[in-house]
Amino acid sequence: KQTIKEILGDYKKLLHHDITVQGWVRAFRSNRFIALNDGSTINNVQIVVDFENFDENVIKNIKTASSLKITGEVIESEGKGQDIEIIAKKITILGDNFSEEMEKTVLQPKKHSLEVLRDQAHLRFRTNLFGAVFRVRSAASFAIHQFFNQNHFFYMNTPIITGADAEGAGEMFGVTNFDLNQIPRDENGDIDFAQDFFGKKTNLTVSGQLEAETAAMGLGRVYTFGPTFRAENSNTTRHLAEFWMVEPEVAFNNLEDNIDLAEDFLKYVIGYVLENCKDDLKFLDQRFTEEQKQKPEKDRAKEGLIEKLENVIKKRFMRVSYSEAIEILLNSKENKKGKFQFPIEKWGADLQSEHERYLVEKHFESPVVLFDYPKEIKAFYMRLNEDGKTVAAMDVLFPGIGEIIGGSQREERLDVLKTKMQEMHVDEHELWWYLDTRKFGSVPHAGFGLGLERLILFVTGMTNIRDVIPFPRTPKNAEF
Ligand code: ATP
Ligand code: MG
Ligand code: MG
Ligand code: MG
Repeated sequence: KQTIKEILGDYKKLLHHDITVQGWVRAFRSNRFIALNDGSTINNVQIVVDFENFDENVIKNIKTASSLKITGEVIESEGKGQDIEIIAKKITILGDNFSEEMEKTVLQPKKHSLEVLRDQAHLRFRTNLFGAVFRVRSAASFAIHQFFNQNHFFYMNTPIITGADAEGAGEMFGVTNFDLNQIPRDENGDIDFAQDFFGKKTNLTVSGQLEAETAAMGLGRVYTFGPTFRAENSNTTRHLAEFWMVEPEVAFNNLEDNIDLAEDFLKYVIGYVLENCKDDLKFLDQRFTEEQKQKPEKDRAKEGLIEKLENVIKKRFMRVSYSEAIEILLNSKENKKGKFQFPIEKWGADLQSEHERYLVEKHFESPVVLFDYPKEIKAFYMRLNEDGKTVAAMDVLFPGIGEIIGGSQREERLDVLKTKMQEMHVDEHELWWYLDTRKFGSVPHAGFGLGLERLILFVTGMTNIRDVIPFPRTPKNAEF
């Protein structure tokens, strides 16, 4: 069995042979030409049906969205749009489209809004757009494993159910095996969540970092790549309650090594997609260009999608300290004229995505790596710098996205780490295992987290994170 991608890619060998293809009907023109697609590629194969050779009932039942198995001869096509066509000799209808029901779905061939497509997430795989997006997502995921493998990293799986809260941002989903008839309650009658997982308080992981660090302290270079959960109730276009995070953790690396790794990594994955997803990117590029035309001229992207990706991998990312960034923001026209929703008042302010995007899109017009953030606005595990005020943190900011990667050099000094934990009210006893790694042969180390979906937004030109994950989990979206 061959996919349509294989058939189209290698058609010269197949000329004048009989082959079998299976797929879904995208269009049936003039009762003669079927555009058949099997999901392996954005391209359809053209099937020619000479109706005198077929039973009328078969022809009648070939409709958009029905599934077919066709055997026929491959010939060179005279038409412009394709290299080959298949002259059908045998057609089997695998699945009817129950046509009236089909008309109410996104399979109906017309333009559907992204909202409607989202409501039918289970059917949108059949559209060109989502076929392209999810093929690119798959390729990028593969490239991520390939990059780390080539760089001698080991793939580690960190737990989904954990007692650790790496970020301390209060965004955790609890995990419970409560018997609903016997929910444990405290003396006030409130649910006693401290007992939810067989008598231990646990949650779904918000990051595999702390556990990955312990693995790096034995295996040197590791990465995790798994589902991550955050009870984000904010309904933004950049946050999901369930997303996929890639987290490398490297022993003996410092902040600069970490930034270099993040830059090489992003460029590798983007380069891989450019090289291996040409047809899908071409389609997404056209869509992106169409979208831009709908916008007022001043808001239009200066580059096409492919051009943007090519340019990003050519240039070195700007590297800017948090302090420099604050100066730029404080002195910006936007800040002075009160254009930011959250005006920047002084050093120490946490940056919002509007500020990140100002730096990237307006000021530097380049991806930017910000580093050395105030310790108060970053997590407890980040390494304290000599100034005692900042930590060796880094965020990679991308145009159209804002933060795509967050990382840091980790605090490897036991005493400094303990003081930090006390200051930030992180329980030492709960993290005894984490502290152990600082007791027996502690070494400098660093790592980062990339949200896969944010990278896929960037490479596909999509603008809502719900449209780059097959089944988005957001506050109002957990039906299937
Ligand atoms: P943000 O500031 O955008 O909320 P964060 O600083 O909370 O992100 P980190 O804890 O640094 O995120 O996580 C590392 C990366 O994971 C982020 O840079 C981002 O790419 C991704 N990420 C974080 N939260 C989400 C989310 N809710 N949905 C999708 N991706 C996310
Ligand atoms: Mg966040
Ligand atoms: Mg952030
Ligand atoms: Mg972050």
